Amino acid sequence: MVEQRIPIPVEEAITRVKNRTKRNPIESVPLEMADGRVLAEDLIADHPIPSFDRSAFDGFAIRAEDTAQASFENPITLKVVDDIGAGAVSDKTLGEKEAIRIMTGAQIPSGTTAILALELSETFENTGETWVRVNRPVARNSHISRQGEDTDQGEIIARKGRRITAGEMSMLATFGYAQVNVYRQPVVGIYATGTELLPVDAPLTPGKIRNSNSYMLQSQVRALGAIPKYYGILPDDYDLCLQKVRDTLEEVDFLMTTGGASVGDFDYVQDIMRELDAHVLFNKVSMRPGSVTTVSTVGDKWLFGLSGNPAACYVGFELFARPVLKTALGSEELELPRSKAVLAHDLKKPNRFTRFVRAKASYNGSQVTVQSVGLDKSGVASALVEANVLLIVPPNQEGYKAGEELDVMWLDR
Ligand code: AMP
Ligand code: MG
Repeated sequence: MVEQRIPIPVEEAITRVKNRTKRNPIESVPLEMADGRVLAEDLIADHPIPSFDRSAFDGFAIRAEDTAQASFENPITLKVVDDIGAGAVSDKTLGEKEAIRIMTGAQIPSGTTAILALELSETFENTGETWVRVNRPVARNSHISRQGEDTDQGEIIARKGRRITAGEMSMLATFGYAQVNVYRQPVVGIYATGTELLPVDAPLTPGKIRNSNSYMLQSQVRALGAIPKYYGILPDDYDLCLQKVRDTLEEVDFLMTTGGASVGDFDYVQDIMRELDAHVLFNKVSMRPGSVTTVSTVGDKWLFGLSGNPAACYVGFELFARPVLKTALGSEELELPRSKAVLAHDLKKPNRFTRFVRAKASYNGSQVTVQSVGLDKSGVASALVEANVLLIVPPNQEGYKAGEELDVMWLDR
């Protein structure tokens, strides 16, 4: 008897998944290890930037008022009384018609009201002293970066939930976060199932294929910032699969299987879920590919029964595993970003399920257009190489015409 599985809409399936997710505990890591992780604390400026008034140019600290009458015909000369590089501080106060040679980033000496850029000045030696000639008025405040002009003290630079990339690394370092609170990375166990599967280094033999899904899934897991743990290939042997899944659930909080998800003679995922007394969120979704995706929880643990068909496995992961893992990772952005795109060609194939077509979107100078890539079949994986979006095609008997606007989900690549 073929068991009846009731399909639910994609959005409903995503909602069910999101309603049960929770964040991982927090850990503190050295700044060097924080890149790519998600902030578990707000990043706060504990001092203003700049923290002191500083020169934005190599040049001379001057009093702008001394240059008010300067012109090409009547240049004025200032006496250079000190010389400071970045990191140094002058103990002099600028007097009338005095200048201090200053480098970018150095704290401006007291009395300074402007920086004269090196390019606009001319220096000369006379009677053992150095002088600088100015032939135009310099505006007050020229090239001075004021304390706090970039960031005020107490400002929140990034809120928790933000993924740490180059900009956040810079700010964490600026404010002395030698240790950073981040969410612990989930470890995601992966099994490939199927007696037809060969390891990558095996030569092809009749009826067999290489296990590609587990490598694809590991890449997807890693791209989110989680840690994949590949457990190998399982043959279509119910007892063995059940035992391995049960044992592995002791070790990891998230476990994925690919294959055995359908209603064929050796598709054991449903039986395993039942035997484990799993709480099944859904086991069929009205979408193509990936309609036979099953997501369940066993206590605190998550079990994803992804399709064996490569494209279906990929899409099932992006739609349903992504929000779960992203939440665990502490991230605020749970789903792939969406936008509209204009169809570059007709889409004939009507379907009663929503289709997620592997497609390529590009900007043609006035709008974002999208075209499908490769064969739109769930078993076809090669299209994933060129695809940068999933084109969402709602059910429609007539299909769609070139020029119509549809939603796309932008793949993380
Ligand atoms: P299944 O869900 O087990 O019925 O598998 C559906 C299709 O996906 C079959 O054609 C399988 O051979 C193929 N398949 C299953 N697992 C993998 C895998 N790990 N890598 C590549 N193809 C697979
Ligand atoms: Mg199989």
